[in-house]
Amino acid sequence: MTPPPHYEWQPTTAEIAARYGLLESDIVRFDHNTSPYATDWAAGIVTPMARSLNEYPGASYMPLRHAAATYLGVAPENVVPGAGVDELVLLIAKAFLGPHTRGCAVVPTYPLYEIASLQRNSEFIAISYSESFSFPQDAFGQAAETSDVTWLCVPNNPTGERIDDATISRIIRDARGIVAIDAAYAELTGDRWADWVERYDNLIVLHTMSKAFGLAALRVGYAIGSPDLIAQIDVVRPPGSISSMSAEIAVAALADPHRMQRTVHRITKERARLAGLLDKSGFTVYPSVTNFLLCHVGPYASALSASLLETGLVVRSYPHGHPLTEYVRFTVRSPAEDDRLIAAIARSLPEVIGTA
Ligand code: PMP
Repeated sequence: MTPPPHYEWQPTTAEIAARYGLLESDIVRFDHNTSPYATDWAAGIVTPMARSLNEYPGASYMPLRHAAATYLGVAPENVVPGAGVDELVLLIAKAFLGPHTRGCAVVPTYPLYEIASLQRNSEFIAISYSESFSFPQDAFGQAAETSDVTWLCVPNNPTGERIDDATISRIIRDARGIVAIDAAYAELTGDRWADWVERYDNLIVLHTMSKAFGLAALRVGYAIGSPDLIAQIDVVRPPGSISSMSAEIAVAALADPHRMQRTVHRITKERARLAGLLDKSGFTVYPSVTNFLLCHVGPYASALSASLLETGLVVRSYPHGHPLTEYVRFTVRSPAEDDRLIAAIARSLPEVIGTA
């Protein structure tokens, strides 16, 4: 039996370390778009909770709903939590897609929208970016007009750009069904569409603690929307997919977003420096408003990625036949980690260019 369309898991840090005879501490993930900064502050929450792991989390996650609502300036009825944006994407597909329905998105984008739509036996319309990655506004608007769920990643992963608000509102107005904005990287641009959910009753905005908040291991995200849409997602949600510790750490982070703002400030500064260094390495670096940079590397992109991987630097490359085969996406990490990447690229390039 062929497996259903599914997400290709990246190898874990432990697996990579074992494969190349490296220490786990030598591995740097330039492929996950996560924050490089430590989360020691959370120890004060985890330690006392370790005494009560025998109990289930409170299934309504009210404190988390309240914290997210306060952070975004909406009501708790506008919020539903999930185990990351990933679970919320699957829940939206479960609530609103099935046979004889249609989902649409631009490509390349985050692959889970297509997977989630196809797993529901829904049709999926993929509208391609132009070669220069300009947003296919007209074609996408037309797809939205006939779709039950329109997936929109703003800023977009992997291209790194952000379509403007006028385009987003036109899509929401024209869409036949629901528009799900994946705002996973929105904190990096200071964006929030929270007040839009009062204006548009077909809008769901997805937020995560994994990116600018630097808490990817928690697996916490939340969706905001009209109380009616939120209730439709709530009923298909499992009762306890977020652990008690994750929920409590997320509440503390949302209540005090200054750490997140500091991370955004550091990443934004470092992004400009890393972009300059990648440009000097000979790559075409695409403009990015997020914590990653998409680069046109050339026909040796996957050979370069393989060579970097052997030294413990994990970057995101794309398989043969993918529109981004000649590209590599690099997460912006700390200055020291980025310097290690640039030095490794300088060492690897002459060899991989020779083999291309
Ligand atoms: N959406 C986008 C656009 C992403 O890039 C990612 C992670 N790479 C996710 C969602 C997953 O988010 P989460 O960790 O909240 O599941």
